[in-house]
Amino acid sequence: MNIIRVLSPDVRGKIAAGEVILRPASVVKELIENSLDANASRIDTDIANGGKDKCLVNDDGHGMSRADAPLSIERYATSKITSVADIDSIATFGFRGEALASIAQVSKFELETSDGNEGTRLVVEGGALKGVYGSERPQGTRIKVSNLFYNLPARRKFLKSVTWERRLIMELVKTYALVCPRVTFSLLDGGKAILSLMHSDSMLARAKALLPRDIADHLEVVDFEVGRTRITGLLSRPDLAATHRFSHIYVNSRPVKYPRLYRAIIEAYENPKNAPAFAIDIKAEPQIVDANVHPAKTEVKFKDERYITDLLVQVIKRDVFKRSVRIDYENKTYEATGAPQAAQRFVQDAAIPYGEDKVASIHDSDEFWQLHGTYILAQTKSGLIIVDQHVAHERIIYEKVMRGRVQSQRLLFPVTIELTSDEHRVYQRTKKALEEMGIEFKEFSSNTVIIDSVPVDFRIDREEIAGIFGELLELGDLAGERARIAQVVACRGAVKAGQKLSVLEMQSLVDRLFATENPYTCPHGRPIVVKLTLEELGHKFGRS
Ligand code: ADP
Ligand code: MG
Repeated sequence: MNIIRVLSPDVRGKIAAGEVILRPASVVKELIENSLDANASRIDTDIANGGKDKCLVNDDGHGMSRADAPLSIERYATSKITSVADIDSIATFGFRGEALASIAQVSKFELETSDGNEGTRLVVEGGALKGVYGSERPQGTRIKVSNLFYNLPARRKFLKSVTWERRLIMELVKTYALVCPRVTFSLLDGGKAILSLMHSDSMLARAKALLPRDIADHLEVVDFEVGRTRITGLLSRPDLAATHRFSHIYVNSRPVKYPRLYRAIIEAYENPKNAPAFAIDIKAEPQIVDANVHPAKTEVKFKDERYITDLLVQVIKRDVFKRSVRIDYENKTYEATGAPQAAQRFVQDAAIPYGEDKVASIHDSDEFWQLHGTYILAQTKSGLIIVDQHVAHERIIYEKVMRGRVQSQRLLFPVTIELTSDEHRVYQRTKKALEEMGIEFKEFSSNTVIIDSVPVDFRIDREEIAGIFGELLELGDLAGERARIAQVVACRGAVKAGQKLSVLEMQSLVDRLFATENPYTCPHGRPIVVKLTLEELGHKFGRS
């Protein structure tokens, strides 16, 4: 039976194109992922000359039939998805059916496979099938990629030193070995074993086989499940003193680069001296993960990122710092959240601490820059903060108007607004609250009002003022809630993205932001501050 199908052009178009094989490590990555997808319990990798001359991966997975084997090297041939709908629920590593085809194009390629009934061997050169033979081999697949880029000399020259390429492959094998502890892995380089990992029953056991004791002994096992999300893995205790490069994030066992999650973890450790060591696997329904954003598949994105980072921070507080935290997300579903208050409260509980970066230290510095008229960059003791000017201002105004007794300023030119009869009804309902918040009205005729004062801090024009009523109207019944009205007012009154600010204005905005009760999330639950520590920068530049 043919299990591998060629994807229709319609599906192909939807898939981020261009699987790019950059270097030997990308070959090894694709081959190991295929072996894992084939349910292998043992994966042996054998390289020569840092993988430049040979990358061979042998597994004991389910293998391929005689009919399927030649299809596996055709572009867009995959056994893993068949329709556009499937893209939303990817549960395997591969799904594009591009990897083997791409690799076979740029190498001398040999595939030997057996599904347990019949063995097949294919020989391919520069993408052209040279021969199909029978083979005697046990169930599983062995793919040998020789002379990578032999037909693309410029690409081959671009490869780095043998040592460098070998190290990348070594790191890669370790990365998969860590998240698949039940699989036996080995790595040979030039015939010499450089890694040998017997199957084990936990990530911790695997980590112990990979890490020096002074790190392995400081790891805490976490396993936390809420709703249909599960976070498992290892996190170092705060007293870890050793330096290391042990920072792995996986999403549904797929190793990913996810700077936002990385930052959330570092932040949860409250500026530790040494970077925390961690390997975290976040298991979530495939539907809430978009794995199709990058052809190399190292980037995924949670549709509800905030929820996941909050959970992660809570887990660290609870299981690593042993603090009692209240996790009130039990029944959350992944539909767009219609409850900003709850989300806000949750974040407040998590209280991501920027302690040392509070007002005082920021005030010491007059280093403020505005980026694209939208973000304020400010130097802090431990690095850099990036502030979204609009949401920062929104937060300041929101808290001010919620407290009431807001100072107003008279508008030079009062704004006359004609309201529709619906808007007028909303106006009547909310007038009192709006006036307490510093917006003052005069009634002119039946549906026309004049606004002659707004809160002192407002950056507002005619359109924005008129917009307040439209937005309040949209709130329906909720327009009776003070917090909702305050959200609308704050959003309308806040400085917009794209508005130029002077250094003094930026400084004042940042200072007032850090004087609010909750400087880190805007009234709608969006983040306000992103922090980049010197440590993270050092990490990115390979200094640590
Ligand atoms: P993808 O993994 O995206 O489906 P690949 O080009 O990596 O695309 O592989 C194409 C197909 O070849 C896979 O869908 C799978 O059916 C088959 N295949 C590749 N490697 C193996 C393997 N080690 N064991 C069994 N089947 C494999
Ligand atoms: Mg694949």
